[in-house]
Amino acid sequence: MSCTSSTLPIIAVLRAPAARAALQQLVLALALVLGLSACIHGGGSLPPSGPAPADVGVSTQELPGEEQPAEPAPLTGPEKAAAWLEAHRDRPTMLRAFVERMPKGADLHMHLNGSIYAESFIRWAADEGICVNRMTGALTDPPCRTREGQVAARTAFEDPELYETFIDMVSTRNLERSPQSGHARFFAAFSKIRGVGADGDKIAELAARAADEHVQYLEIMLTLREPQVAAIGRKIGFDTDLASTRQALLAAGLAEEVTRARAELDSITRRARTTLGCDSSEPGPGCDVEWRILQQTIRTLEPAEVYAQLVFAFELARGDARVVGINIVAPEDSPVALRDCRRHMAMIGSLSRAMPEVGVAVHAGELWPGLVPPRYLRSHIREAVTLAQARRIGHGVDLAYEDDPPGLLELMRERSVLLEACLTSNRVILGVAGDVHPLEEYLRAGVPVALASDDEGVLRTSLGTEYLLAVTEHGLGYRELAQMARDSLSYSFVEGDGLWTSPRRLQVADACAADHLGSDEPTPACAALLASDTRARLQWRLEAELEGFESLPWITCQVPE
Ligand SMILES: [Zn+2]
Repeated sequence: MSCTSSTLPIIAVLRAPAARAALQQLVLALALVLGLSACIHGGGSLPPSGPAPADVGVSTQELPGEEQPAEPAPLTGPEKAAAWLEAHRDRPTMLRAFVERMPKGADLHMHLNGSIYAESFIRWAADEGICVNRMTGALTDPPCRTREGQVAARTAFEDPELYETFIDMVSTRNLERSPQSGHARFFAAFSKIRGVGADGDKIAELAARAADEHVQYLEIMLTLREPQVAAIGRKIGFDTDLASTRQALLAAGLAEEVTRARAELDSITRRARTTLGCDSSEPGPGCDVEWRILQQTIRTLEPAEVYAQLVFAFELARGDARVVGINIVAPEDSPVALRDCRRHMAMIGSLSRAMPEVGVAVHAGELWPGLVPPRYLRSHIREAVTLAQARRIGHGVDLAYEDDPPGLLELMRERSVLLEACLTSNRVILGVAGDVHPLEEYLRAGVPVALASDDEGVLRTSLGTEYLLAVTEHGLGYRELAQMARDSLSYSFVEGDGLWTSPRRLQVADACAADHLGSDEPTPACAALLASDTRARLQWRLEAELEGFESLPWITCQVPE
């Protein structure tokens, strides 16, 4: 492993407040020298570059034998944005304004139900005539059993205390007032909201929010037909001969379940488009957000049920262009998930070898000492990479406790396995944040990373918040944020080869090599690529949006006018 392959050589320095302050002074001084100061007092544009006027009182005539200092090159757009961020590193409101507006590419790790706000669930529950438990917040089918504390969900809109309690109980809001741990509150939320609301409306909510947050592509995890698929799994049982069990599952009705799931997706897509008004004369901004599905497998069930779910997920992804991959979810620290982790990874690996076109992302290493005995911290991330052939790892928090962490980082870098970093989720559920979080080690090792929200609704977070934490808790600058935004699209499972021949080095595909990236008028060859390649189209748009962001007057001029 190369010990000098750091992509973030200044991070360690940035962690020390004194060093950070000194660096900020340096950046400010540089920015001032290079002309940003004109904007601070003067207004909306940078000073023109070019030769100094002759009447400034200082001779500009070259003296014999003396070398004149070179004219400093004007800052590029990315350099201006980077300088702005450094100049405002200690100004939380301005940093927040920056990350909110920054184009972020994709959110690759988000669960459908967990990403919905409790306010939407209670509204849907009221519309559907469902009951809410005053004590637990659980939503249940009518009739409401008042002796058990259940009342009609619509009551919540006339009862502020019930409304507030419900939101707290199905999210991690006001967690500090609760005796529950973040882990307990978080995972308990999902059973309380299960089955409420239409998936199409939920996707519409996510797409509309993504548009507001300058996110252009979502990979949404959901679980289609889980009870039916698990039942087929129980009927067939589990045999260590994975290939023959797969055939038996398909023959026993799994193939028909794939057909039914595709029909469900048709209906979900139609509803999402209707809710967003995509086919109306005034389509909502969410219609511009691309989304694809990752079919989830619940890892806390018995092996026969887990394998049936995985076969179903791979077959669905192979058969439906909207489903671009799979993931395995539910608490990694549950007894069954711990017992069967290696077996699950082998199952995924076997199916991945048979269907390599299916994207594989795995929750792995979402663990921490104290949550589980130490022996469970040693191998989950590595096994996800080596056994399951995962192309993306969700969380990867317990890196330090893996056998041979440097070797694992090198393996991930070599295989170009991306880390989906979910900083708020890790802080709330595991209590891991700041210096203790391994984000910087992944970046330092050259492992591609994308920030992700995990469960925006339950965690009351946003992708903007994740970007902010990367700056404030991990010392990242604009260059690293922009790289992560680009990586989120490069390592997504969306169809298409993309704009770059090499995602990390950002070499442009031949068809667009002569173009200004993000231009409204690409050359014919480039336009043909963009028309035929969704990934390239998304990446092109991100380049245009980044350039627009870097050109915002309040960025180029340091402070808003
Ligand atoms: Zn997750």
